[in-house]
Amino acid sequence: MVLGGWGRAPLATVAAFRPERVSELRQALIKTVESGTVARGGGRSYGDQALNAGGHVVLTERLDRVLGFDRVTGVLVAEPGLTFNDVLHLFLKHGWQAPVSPGTGFATLGGAVANDVHGKNHDRSGGFGDHVLWLDLMLADGTTRRISPTEHEALFRATIGGMGLTGVITALAVQLLKVPSNAVDRFECRIVDLDDFMTALSDARATSFYSVGWIDALARGRRLGRGILETADPAPNDLPATALKHRRVPLDFPSFALNPLSVRLFNAAYYRRVPGRGRSRRVPVEQFLYPLDSLLDWNRIYGKRGFHQFQCVIPDGQAERGIRALLEAITGARKASFLAVLKTLGGEGRGMLSFPTRGFTLALDLPRRADTPDLFGRLEHITLDHGGRIYLAKDALVSPAGFQRMYPRLSEFRRVLETVDPKSRFTSDMARRLLLKPPLASQIDRAA
Ligand SMILES: Cc1cc2nc3c(=O)[nH]c(=O)nc-3n(C[C@H](O)[C@H](O)[C@H](O)COP(=O)(O)OP(=O)(O)OC[C@H]3O[C@@H](n4cnc5c(N)ncnc54)[C@H](O)[C@@H]3O)c2cc1C
Repeated sequence: MVLGGWGRAPLATVAAFRPERVSELRQALIKTVESGTVARGGGRSYGDQALNAGGHVVLTERLDRVLGFDRVTGVLVAEPGLTFNDVLHLFLKHGWQAPVSPGTGFATLGGAVANDVHGKNHDRSGGFGDHVLWLDLMLADGTTRRISPTEHEALFRATIGGMGLTGVITALAVQLLKVPSNAVDRFECRIVDLDDFMTALSDARATSFYSVGWIDALARGRRLGRGILETADPAPNDLPATALKHRRVPLDFPSFALNPLSVRLFNAAYYRRVPGRGRSRRVPVEQFLYPLDSLLDWNRIYGKRGFHQFQCVIPDGQAERGIRALLEAITGARKASFLAVLKTLGGEGRGMLSFPTRGFTLALDLPRRADTPDLFGRLEHITLDHGGRIYLAKDALVSPAGFQRMYPRLSEFRRVLETVDPKSRFTSDMARRLLLKPPLASQIDRAA
């Protein structure tokens, strides 16, 4: 089958295997010796991480059983294909939710470990990996090893944020977060420019449980960095239970639909949606955590050619200059992009390749055009110049040299891979692009 990431670029033809049970997985791995394999969860990473062109991919969507839940301690044991939506729908009514959520409920717990995902509460709660108690990992030789901060510690830290390259996670135990209700109390306000945003987010990270900024990525000059800041805290009381309403984008938009004028109009309307004095509302947790999920298949808005996402983090000390330089490059290129997201991150993650570091993270979509790699290259340089790093969960374009400078624990990660998977049975298009794994003999043959 042909698979893509959420950005629908690049695409890859793969032999996909969808086990119904973990017990079928071992057999499948033996068959993939020649071509290599990689796990795929909800397919919500944007680029080439869960792709393996010409090789195998293991789809984990049927491995989604709850294996145990302790209502007193909130420890959940589950298979890796359980999604954040599943966790919310099963456990919120008992007062528990995922401790850290990405911006989509369609991501799986296995995928969340493999990217050590962060949420809108990183300053308070760290990354998803910080809440993992143990993992069962099926290794290249077909055996399964239980790994945790105290058992096989190096392999555990390589697997958190390890992009599926150490093995397939077959089960995990995670500590859920106790919450008083199914809602959050959200405050939204307009932010007039970038200076205002940096100050407001610096305050919010200390005072609110959740915070996230939406930036109008077309605003220039004295409006550069204007947008909306959302802060929120768990609400003390429940809202009446309501299901999130979904709409679906029914077709791929033609490329002319997304142009500077249409995006400018959308962004201006989004900015004015919040009154000048700000507003407070109690909203369902689901609506706050996963606002984009109400529009299913929204990636089709970027048309058949797809899009790339750029996300980086710039450490606190350089953040003001770095984010300004990035926004100037983006607005100067006049690339039609909807809202960019600006958030704070609280510190380093547990994984050797975890993305977070204490700083400000900027994320935005770039429609895929002939000149997009050039702009991306400029953004990569600015990120490096300011001591930052690019998030691999969103990536399809970062250069191998840039990647190596951004991730100082890379050599440690490589040493673990050499020990547990010397023949590169686990591999992906991203792993080969970033020179994390050499191409397999079968892939060299095909290329020849
Ligand atoms: C709308 C949207 C919003 C997002 N917001 C955020 C955000 O706020 N914060 C954030 O951190 N990320 C965010 N993301 C990115 C997303 O959370 C990550 O890419 C996440 O890893 C996706 O999980 P998935 O199940 O879809 O995994 P996939 O995309 O299918 O795979 C991602 C990686 O996980 C590996 N993997 C999957 N299952 C297993 C397994 N069982 N064993 C071993 N490896 C496995 C794959 O090999 C691959 O390397 C967002 C994505 C979207 C589309």
